[in-house]
Amino acid sequence: MASYPDGNLRIAIIGGGPGGLATAIALSALPNVEVNLYEKAHELREIGAGLNIGYNSWRVLEILGADSNINGHLITEVQQRNGLDGTLVAKRGPSTLPLKYQSRRARRTRLQRALLDQVPVDIIHLRKELTSIENVPEGGAHLGFSDGSEAFADLVVGADGIRSVVRQTAFPEHNIKFSGITIWRTLVPRSLLAHIPDIPTCTSWWHGPSGHAYFSPVDDPSRTEPEDEMIEISSRTIVDPETDKTRRWSWGVPTTNEHVESHFTNFDPRVREALAKVPKGNWKEFSAFSGPRLQELTAWDKLVLIGDASHPLTGAFGSGAAFAMEDGWILARSLEFIFPSLQGEKGSSISTHDGIKKALAIFDSIRSPYYARMYEYLDNVSAKAKARGSTFEARLKSRVEAFSEGGLDWIYLNDIERVWNDWLENMDSTRREKTNNVRIESNL
Ligand SMILES: Cc1cc2nc3c(=O)[nH]c(=O)nc-3n(C[C@H](O)[C@H](O)[C@H](O)COP(=O)(O)OP(=O)(O)OC[C@H]3O[C@@H](n4cnc5c(N)ncnc54)[C@H](O)[C@@H]3O)c2cc1C
Repeated sequence: MASYPDGNLRIAIIGGGPGGLATAIALSALPNVEVNLYEKAHELREIGAGLNIGYNSWRVLEILGADSNINGHLITEVQQRNGLDGTLVAKRGPSTLPLKYQSRRARRTRLQRALLDQVPVDIIHLRKELTSIENVPEGGAHLGFSDGSEAFADLVVGADGIRSVVRQTAFPEHNIKFSGITIWRTLVPRSLLAHIPDIPTCTSWWHGPSGHAYFSPVDDPSRTEPEDEMIEISSRTIVDPETDKTRRWSWGVPTTNEHVESHFTNFDPRVREALAKVPKGNWKEFSAFSGPRLQELTAWDKLVLIGDASHPLTGAFGSGAAFAMEDGWILARSLEFIFPSLQGEKGSSISTHDGIKKALAIFDSIRSPYYARMYEYLDNVSAKAKARGSTFEARLKSRVEAFSEGGLDWIYLNDIERVWNDWLENMDSTRREKTNNVRIESNL
């Protein structure tokens, strides 16, 4: 069944979110790879509202060739406020990075469009919901879809998000559960909020005792007609998942204005006024699920998890799209490193099975420790917050400290190309060391 090096290396990507699309771009650029992307939706459309595109995202978008044409609001000031009385407790900005790498808040559809524009159109298969994966002992995997169709691939990339079927198949004992966080998101015409002081002009967080409201413009005024400019509102509430027994499974489902507003009745009048201006039927509700860290991101020597499928943290760092795209790019580099013919060189001395196994080991050695560090960071944050107590003042202090301390440059200033070059350098010096040791030993 093995198809490579005689034919093309056949790779199936499951899911057309930022991770799947970025992986498709990176892999399609390699010779001798046949890429197919299977997406369950009938069209590729982003649900949600806006997202942050910071340095780490810009770098990976740049090397994917998808960084131009993403119009978004340049984040020059971020404010943290006591959401109950409106006091400004901290602020940050402007950035000292070169303009092209500075953070922008953009509509999610714009990121998706920028990625889609770089993906060869004929490799995307819509309305293909993966339902089963069968491990073929001689090599590769059979994929089964809900419409009864089947496909075969040497390597399967699970880019199918937080509720990943690929992860469930590879790690059936792994479970995600409701984290206690419910998020409501929407985009509102800027004109509806223009009269409210401090809300339409910058990115701001208004913290309450058990949740917050977040506001940010998502358009670049120099590239958007004033009547088309939008403000993103993302508000969330947190309950104790151990005591709250309501069954939650919502993901992008409509909810009423009354329901959202009922969680913010004690907030500053500016917040309440802004929420009251949301046109009816605009709110979408998301129940955030999360799960423990996977010890490894690969299975069966032919399955690999990327993006939200690989580290179910549900947006804990507000940078998950960047992580997913970085994963896809590193996967392409790992395969290219192992298979000489993916670098355009003739012939290959490695079998498909061994090659994929080695490439996945490289991928895992780079990305697993990165995700492990995120889980560790979050554990420390919650231990610190617990020690401090659960009063509103204590929570606000923790939030503002986390915001002001920095300490997350390894995420937000991550340069994935440098990570790969460091890995190559490290590899070279290990090889040189090994060769030297062999020489020394043979001289003894
Ligand atoms: C409230 C919130 C705010 C966030 N803010 C930010 C932010 O500011 N910046 C940022 O970078 N990230 C942010 N994130 C995180 C970001 O949205 C995700 O990390 C990112 O979308 C993950 O991309 P992905 O490709 O791994 O998965 P997804 O975007 O979830 O894509 C998965 C795709 O797989 C498809 N799929 C699922 N199952 C199947 C199946 N069985 N068969 C075929 N297709 C399937 C889905 O339809 C979907 O298209 C936020 C997340 C949340 C919840």
